[in-house]
Formats: sequence, structure tokens, C-alpha cells
Amino acid sequence: MGNVMAKRSGVRRSRGAAKPLKPVGTGMQNGDRGQPSDSVEVAARAELILEGSADGILAIDSERRILAFNTALESLTGWSRDEVIGKRCFEVLGLEDDQGANLCQTRCPLLGEMTGPSSLDGIITTKDDRRRDVALRYSLPPSGREASLPVVVNVRDMGRLARAEALNSSLLAITSHELQTPISIIKAYASTLARPDVKWDEETIKDKLHAIEEESDRLSVLVSRLLYSSRIDSDTILLNRLVLDLPKEVHRVAERLTGPSETHQVEIDFPTDFPPVYADPEKIGDVLTNLLENAVKFSPEGGRIIVRGDISGDEVLITVTDEGIGIAPQEWELIFNRFYRADDARVRSTQGIGLGLHICKATVEGHGGRIWAHSGPGKGACFSFTLPVAGEE
Ligand code: ADP
Repeated sequence: MGNVMAKRSGVRRSRGAAKPLKPVGTGMQNGDRGQPSDSVEVAARAELILEGSADGILAIDSERRILAFNTALESLTGWSRDEVIGKRCFEVLGLEDDQGANLCQTRCPLLGEMTGPSSLDGIITTKDDRRRDVALRYSLPPSGREASLPVVVNVRDMGRLARAEALNSSLLAITSHELQTPISIIKAYASTLARPDVKWDEETIKDKLHAIEEESDRLSVLVSRLLYSSRIDSDTILLNRLVLDLPKEVHRVAERLTGPSETHQVEIDFPTDFPPVYADPEKIGDVLTNLLENAVKFSPEGGRIIVRGDISGDEVLITVTDEGIGIAPQEWELIFNRFYRADDARVRSTQGIGLGLHICKATVEGHGGRIWAHSGPGKGACFSFTLPVAGEE
């Protein structure tokens, strides 16, 4: 029980716990430029700078052998430092242009007599065969006495920048549309009610206040989803885990959502010996709410929504199936991306900002589970997620 700081899966090694960099051969360790303790301090500071950099940094000698390789570059390329130290950089990065021509053989600044800063843009292939757009910036030592110093290469992930820019523009588009709509409605109704020249009857006042309340609720959900998703970005989700009776939670969410609906029937199917899970009731309630709201929203003609619980070893499996518009297989993974909505007129006609499933994924993974989409037995969509069974805590 208690507060647990959960991290998303695939968390990078923490900066503070970085592996020491291998010496880069600058001669600084030889004590020829100051006291040994100064050298150690300078080396430690250099290491901190390299490890603190969000960009990949690589140091190579004049033979293009890798002397240092920082953590950001490990996560960009998939190669660990131990695998690449001593190898030639062109064997590891293999920079190409977009026609597939090898730039390391033709355009590498180390092949010429260049000194000072120099740059090269291209595509590298990661250890797991993914292609990444990068910009390389070389700091070549001055010729002469210092020519034996290593060359420092800064490797910037241009895809990451492009993705961040795309995210910013999605956020702007969403803010201007989805947030502006409820604000305009609230403003319009409030101004109408406040008109000094009209005396409204009780029924009209009630209606307008009700609409204002609904729109405020919608606004509040949007804002909390945006805030929550920014917390996911900073890798910190606070979970208040308790021993949770999941079937009871499913009943509670389903009643609240679909109680008055005549077109959707919710069936809940859990075995009697379904075990308790150790989970944050509010966060798991949000996951269930989002999956059930989507099942209703994307089944415009109504139909059955089935929530099933199963036990599988030391995990439980929850499946939510509907009979709605369904999801194309090529979108099963994409729909968990932030702000992603399927490219379908029936989806565009509904309200939403494409954050719900992204939040569900972070929450379920924060609990040590998995979530995925697949096709239901007929038409319609099917979502499954797992959670670990409560232990002896
Ligand atoms: P939103 O509902 O705000 O669009 P979500 O993150 O909850 O955001 O869902 C992302 C997208 O996944 C939806 O826009 C839709 O394209 C698809 N989707 C989610 N649930 C369903 C479902 N039950 N049936 C069909 N499509 C779905």
C-alpha cells in the first residue's frame, strides 16, 4: 500500500547512474597540465557534460576509432558503449543520404584536411534496423600541436525535433478547437442569462445552467487529460495502490456511464473466483471509463458492450468488446499514440482529442500490465489489458 512512483516501460538508464565513459585519450589524465586531482576533477566534469547532454556525443581518434559514446547516443542507436568502443565510427553509424549513398566514405570531414567546426546531415541505421534522421556536428582540432586530440561529434536526432514540432502543432490545433468550443458555449449561455433586458422563465434558466455545467465538466476532463499527459512525458505517474475489487469497479463505472442509455447494453462477465488486484482505484477507474466511453461513442448504432474478466497465471485479463465501427489492424498500435485519432469520417464526427488511450497505456504499464487493441469476434473493436494479481502486500 501507499504511494508508488511508477515509471513508464522502456525507461532510459537514469543519468545519475550512468556508466563511466572510457578515457578519451586527451592526455588530461597524465598530469602534464596540472595536479592529478585537477585532472580527475576536469575529467569528471567533462563526463558530466557528456552524460547530461540530450544530444548524442561521440569522440573519435584520427583513425575514426570510437573513444567515447554517451548515453543519449546509446539510446538513439541501440548500441551500448561497450559494444562500440574501439570500433570505427562508420561501421557503427554508417551515415547515408536519402538515396542510400554512403556519406562516411565520401563526405566525412576527417577524410580531408579540415579544421574547426564542420557538419554533415544524413540517415543512420540503428542496431535494430530502424532508420533515423540525424545532423552531425564535428569539432575538429586545430592542425599542428593539438592534431592528435580526439574529434568530438555531436549527433542530433532530427526526427525527435520534427516529432516535437508536430506535437506542438497538434496541441495548438486541439487547444484552439476542442477547448475553445466549450468555452464559447459557456460564455454564450452565461451572457444570455445575464441580459438585464430579459426575464427568463425558470425552465430556460435550468436548461442553460445545465448546459453550462455539462460544458464545464467537458472542459475539466480535457484540461486534466492534458495535464496528466504532460506528467507522463516527465515519466512520473503517482499511483495510490490498494487491494482492489475489479468486478465491483467495472459495475460502478458501467452504471455511471450507460445507465440511461437505451441503445447500448453492457454485459459484465467475471468468474466468481476472480482475485483482487493491487492497483490505484481512481486511475484504473479512469482506464475503464475511457474504454467504455469509447465503446459507446464509437458504436453510434448501439449494440452490446461486453466487459470480461479472466485469470491467466499471476495476471488478470480484462477485455472490453463492442459492436461499433471497429479499428483497422494497421491502427491497432497507432491509436495509443498521443493525439492520434483514426483517419475516418465517423471518428472525426465525434468529440475527442486522442489522449484517452495514450493515458490508459501509461497507467496500465505503470501498474506493470499491458494494453492492446484487436478485432472483436464480429465487427467492432476489442481492447484488452492485464494487471498483476495482488500479492501478499
Ligand atoms: P478520443 O476518443 O478522444 O479520440 P482515444 O485516445 O480514447 O481518443 O482514442 C484514440 C482513437 O482510437 C479514437 O479517435 C478512435 O479512432 C480509436 N478508438 C478508440 N476506441 C475505439 C473503439 N471502441 N472503436 C473504434 N475506434 C476506437
